[in-house]
Amino acid sequence: MLIEQCKIIRNEEIAGGIWEMEFSAPGIVSYYTGPGQFLEILLDNKWSFTVRRPMSIANVEEKRITIIYKIFGRGTTLLTESKVGGILDILGPLGNVFSGWQGNYVPILVGGGVGLAPILNLFRECQKHQIHSKLIIGAKTGREHFMDHDPSNGIFLTTDDGTLGNPGTVMPSLKKVCADIDNPMVFACGPLPMLKGMQDFVIQNKIPAQLSVESYMGCGTGLCQGCAIKRRNVKEKAHSYHERYSLVCMDGPVYSASEVSFD
Ligand SMILES: Cc1cc2nc3c(=O)[nH]c(=O)nc-3n(C[C@H](O)[C@H](O)[C@H](O)COP(=O)(O)OP(=O)(O)OC[C@H]3O[C@@H](n4cnc5c(N)ncnc54)[C@H](O)[C@@H]3O)c2cc1C
Repeated sequence: MLIEQCKIIRNEEIAGGIWEMEFSAPGIVSYYTGPGQFLEILLDNKWSFTVRRPMSIANVEEKRITIIYKIFGRGTTLLTESKVGGILDILGPLGNVFSGWQGNYVPILVGGGVGLAPILNLFRECQKHQIHSKLIIGAKTGREHFMDHDPSNGIFLTTDDGTLGNPGTVMPSLKKVCADIDNPMVFACGPLPMLKGMQDFVIQNKIPAQLSVESYMGCGTGLCQGCAIKRRNVKEKAHSYHERYSLVCMDGPVYSASEVSFD
């Protein structure tokens, strides 16, 4: 992990409110270990932006990194104004990686909202290794999608308002895809309600799954403790903070579905 001054190569809107940025980051790339890892981006040196913004790595190509981000608040709005040739102060790579996708399972990759970045990264990695995965990407509306709904090639888009792909959340599509496959393993990233629904489904159906958690996060290095999440099935000890909670930045963001609680 290091802090690097990264030169912006590309920063463009690829769908409604969804942006893709590519920058040069040879130092960070040299420590990169795979899909799941993320960065902490400093947006401005002013007091109003003291906390870096976490962003998943969506692709690594030679010495360049791509992120895909959704306009959410002031920080991500400011990011859209970053110009090609400009410099961003970036800390990374941080966090752990998805694992087990090269095993005997059929990887079912599910991304919802801003959670699509690490999932697309894993999808590309599966393609590079000629592993046939299924991809399910959910959004509120068709404007937020930038891929084609292509079920014959295992790519399923969903929209809450039914304007593109399968109507509804990612859950009905996930259930259908899992029912059609002998040995599924689910890899997912998205908003907490989506991860909670997914966790209930995979545990009930005994499907192995890894969930990447995008909790609120400050420093990204374990100092601020802002990204704590509850662990499941721990033998609670009144004095033991570490047994009951996990820091997403240090232990995650990728967890086995049976490991964490979203309640
Ligand atoms: C590990 C990880 C990976 C992420 N990857 C991506 C990604 O690839 N693409 C993407 O669009 N977004 C991603 N996010 C969410 C993204 O970090 C937030 O949307 C962003 O920080 C919002 O900043 P803002 O200034 O626009 O919003 P504001 O609401 O102004 O932010 C205020 C503060 O709240 C925190 N915050 C607000 N919303 C979130 C959230 N949903 N998750 C975590 N912190 C939040 C921010 O850190 C910030 O400090 C990721 C979050 C985490 C934890």
